[in-house]
Amino acid sequence: MSGVTLKKLNKTYSPGSKDAFHAVKGIDLEIRDKEFMVLVGPSGCGKSTTLRMIAGLEEVTGGDLYIGDTRMNDVLPKHRGIAMVFQNYALYPHMTVADNMAFGLKLRKTPKDEIKRRVDEAGEILGLTSMLGRKPKALSGGQRQRVALGRAIVRQPDVFLFDEPLSNLDAKMRVQMRAEISKLHASLDATMIYVTHDQTEAMTMGDRICVMKDGKIMQVDEPINIYQKPADMFTAGFIGLPQMNFLHGSVVEADGGLCFAGSNSQPLRIPLNERLSQIAQAHLGKPLVLGMRPEHFTRCADDDAAAISTHVEMGEPLGAESFIHLLTPAGDKLVVRLAGIVQSGIGQALYVKPNLDEAHLFEGETELRLGE
Ligand code: ATP
Repeated sequence: MSGVTLKKLNKTYSPGSKDAFHAVKGIDLEIRDKEFMVLVGPSGCGKSTTLRMIAGLEEVTGGDLYIGDTRMNDVLPKHRGIAMVFQNYALYPHMTVADNMAFGLKLRKTPKDEIKRRVDEAGEILGLTSMLGRKPKALSGGQRQRVALGRAIVRQPDVFLFDEPLSNLDAKMRVQMRAEISKLHASLDATMIYVTHDQTEAMTMGDRICVMKDGKIMQVDEPINIYQKPADMFTAGFIGLPQMNFLHGSVVEADGGLCFAGSNSQPLRIPLNERLSQIAQAHLGKPLVLGMRPEHFTRCADDDAAAISTHVEMGEPLGAESFIHLLTPAGDKLVVRLAGIVQSGIGQALYVKPNLDEAHLFEGETELRLGE
């Protein structure tokens, strides 16, 4: 069993000095045996620091770190049963692909024929068999990253750690390697912890995603749950592209029902459906934020009861879909995602309505999502 458990894990860089920096703030996280867990968040949120503490490359300054049932805080990296794959590959330029992969095993005095067997096997899994005799400079970026993966595979670790392994690759290669790492996870049946700031990688690769911000965990859940039921505005805004639209305002009574009124001078008024009305009941008049994903809008007629009147600020036709940036007369900005190529001139009037079955209400002050 090689789950990884973090209990009130803390990292302060340069503790006690004037440069002290609290990078990881007492996080609790249980990564299950054989799980693919993605740590995601903006630059500086502490995800690499967390991974490096698990690897033993950074000292833990508070709390406990377990791999399986063993407390690892003070165990040397080489005895933790982990292998790490870095963004910059970290290959030895003067060694062949095979020697790069074999290096760690040689240090451990693994028998030669066992090394050869494992290197050949990893080469086969990664499609590197014909390149085992080449030096890294004769490989593409994607091939180099495969060698770095191979070096991790031959160690047969209980836990693989990945620190933004695809950031140096071009977009096409990233998509390909993403699929390869996911396949690798399925075939190796190992625990994998993967750090990225790329929410597409998080959504497509993770069994679960751990969203981090400012050294803290905001939400841990399966990708679809994170997308459909974000715990707070930060997570809602971070996961999803283009990001969720947020309208600030409050819920007020109007025409015998409830409607969301934007807080700008000529407020938008959006009549609420039953679900959102129920959620808003206890928060009437208080600052709230209505969150609507770009794909949950449709074009509508100007006399539709739910129509939002807007003008086009910019259109981004992508082929299969178009992102249209809109501005309401009150100055609220919206981005909507419409199917197909939508021709829209700047300044053109456009009426859209949100699908409120998919919308969220957040508390203005705490930024937490209300309701189930
Ligand atoms: P990125 O995606 O940019 O790598 P990250 O979420 O992985 O970001 P970390 O590298 O874990 O973030 O860094 C977290 C915070 O700790 C940052 O503010 C960073 O400046 C700080 N930090 C990292 N390493 C050190 C160090 N050796 N000394 C002092 N502060 C550090």
